[in-house]
Amino acid sequence: MPVLVFLAVLLLVTASWWLIVYMLMLGGLIWLGLGGWRLALVAALVWAGVLGVVELAPHGAFARLIGWTPRGLAAALVGIVLLFGAEALLRLVRRHTRPLPDRAPGLVPLDGAAAEPVSSTAPVSPPEDDELTRYARHIVLRELGGPGQAALRRARVLVVGAGGLGAPVCLYLAAAGVGRITLADDDRVGLSNLQRQVIFRGTDAGRPKAQAARDAMLALNPHVWVTALERRITDADAGLIAEHDLVIDGTDTFAARQAINAACVAAGVPLIAGAIAQWEGQLTVWDPRRGAPCMACIFPEAPAPGLAPACAEAGVVGPLPGVIGSMMALEAIKIIAGAGDALRGRMLIFDGLYGENRVMKIARRDDCAVCGSGHSRLG
Ligand SMILES: [Zn+2]
Repeated sequence: MPVLVFLAVLLLVTASWWLIVYMLMLGGLIWLGLGGWRLALVAALVWAGVLGVVELAPHGAFARLIGWTPRGLAAALVGIVLLFGAEALLRLVRRHTRPLPDRAPGLVPLDGAAAEPVSSTAPVSPPEDDELTRYARHIVLRELGGPGQAALRRARVLVVGAGGLGAPVCLYLAAAGVGRITLADDDRVGLSNLQRQVIFRGTDAGRPKAQAARDAMLALNPHVWVTALERRITDADAGLIAEHDLVIDGTDTFAARQAINAACVAAGVPLIAGAIAQWEGQLTVWDPRRGAPCMACIFPEAPAPGLAPACAEAGVVGPLPGVIGSMMALEAIKIIAGAGDALRGRMLIFDGLYGENRVMKIARRDDCAVCGSGHSRLG
């Protein structure tokens, strides 16, 4: 660290015993785990304290013991503060210019290449050993393996909504090592969320959901990058969506879902959508670019008021968003790795009260107002 080099040079020049004591003190603090701004603060305060005493009694016993003039002490203090400041600035710059976790070209090109097996993607640098252990149960899966895990690492996924569905989605994507996750939510954690939104702790109450969820994801897996957006996603966000390979919608109003669907169609990015109410949930992959319907093909108009009440009015059993959200995360992993058959053109309906699953075929509509052939956005 530059400050220690500076002090060592000073020591060589002045041969001052006081500097030896000071450097030993700094070394001890570093050994005790102190670093960053705390270390800088203690270092500056101790030096300033000595300067103060010497300044008060320049010819006193303490000043003679230290052997430095007030001017020399002040000059060195300026040096120490400047060097700590420069170091902090350097760290800040480095943090913001850190390379992506993987510099290989972005996932997929889901455009066209998505259907191809992952083994056809360019070889990527082997993950670090720590990650080999972390993802060992993925890597032994025939359908994922090393190439699938590398694809997850390169993937950029936008999760909209850190609520009941977003909670398991965020946890499983982070745990699975999805390299870049953007999470958008403008809400704050409330006490009534904790019955099902398992990504939050009781102590998160009142915090912005995006921030609290980000902290939980990074605590789970420090190898992933998480960007927290404290805002909603609207139909004007096609540009943001185009920077991602996949969008996962966990919002709970028709208007929000409609806007996200329109932006995903405009950007040509697949959208994994789930919905829950009371004991029942459903999920599908909206993806007109690859032959599947978009949301507007199936739900062209908003339901009549009161027909699709939100969870707050209708209620929802706690584990249900866990079931549907986990399935959404599973679809995401399949799509990213090109494993199995994603729920494109199919809607899975889960009835938790009677323990039943149904899968419905759903088709794209040529006259769809959002993705239909008359519409220019799909080209
Ligand atoms: Zn459509």
